[in-house]
Amino acid sequence: MTRLLRIRDVDVEFGGVKALDGVSVDVTAGHVHGLIGPNGSGKSTLMDVAGGFLRPARGTVELAGRRVERRPAHRRARDGIGRTFQGLELFDDLSVAENLSVGLVGGARPARADVEWAAGLLGVADELDRLVVELPHGRRRLVSVARAIAGRPRVLLLDEPAAGLETGETAELGRALREIVAPETAILLVEHDMQLVMGVCDRVTVLQLGGVIAEGSPAEIRTDPRVRAAYLGE
Ligand code: ADP
Ligand code: MG
Repeated sequence: MTRLLRIRDVDVEFGGVKALDGVSVDVTAGHVHGLIGPNGSGKSTLMDVAGGFLRPARGTVELAGRRVERRPAHRRARDGIGRTFQGLELFDDLSVAENLSVGLVGGARPARADVEWAAGLLGVADELDRLVVELPHGRRRLVSVARAIAGRPRVLLLDEPAAGLETGETAELGRALREIVAPETAILLVEHDMQLVMGVCDRVTVLQLGGVIAEGSPAEIRTDPRVRAAYLGE
């Protein structure tokens, strides 16, 4: 079981307030790893640490055995970390195909075959020639995931990819995530849709107030009393 992404004892402070306090997460190759927790618990901050948008005050990040916590985001993209953004960050006046062809922050430019493969996986292949601005919100979100996948990252960071999706689109997303986790690929998934998390994840880490309160299989997490208390207390 190869640990593709190892996050160890990470601290992040914003103006003296700890957003992450000694957080460790191991993401295994071939796994979809869920990251859940109440609003403000530090999920997006941890994604920023993994993707290189934030440098932790303490702790390490390893990608396939190499320390990367000091590498900026564009280098980490070249190293094989792909991500989507909560704000999507698509080019509205470009076509879907053009958006998928643009490598994210320094990532390699995907080939046409990768673009078509990613669009097919996310169910947006029929919309490759349409302008992003013409698409409804849910389709745009699927395009943003397809763009990250088209770069064939080794580790894919997804921050709430199902927000605003219809039920059918969420199911399509779940199937795509299961299909791309190959032996050499892993996904770290932040998501509020518990049905999606419990349906697609191999492991789940739960954050509360910047710390890990539980880690386990979906079945273990669903029945964990600390997790239930954290959510009921929200
Ligand atoms: P989540 O994604 O789980 O909702 P975040 O990682 O966005 O949580 O935020 C964790 C904590 O860090 C929150 O208390 C939030 O207010 C704070 N925080 C996040 N980003 C910043 C920032 N850029 N500046 C100051 N505080 C921040
Ligand atoms: Mg967030």
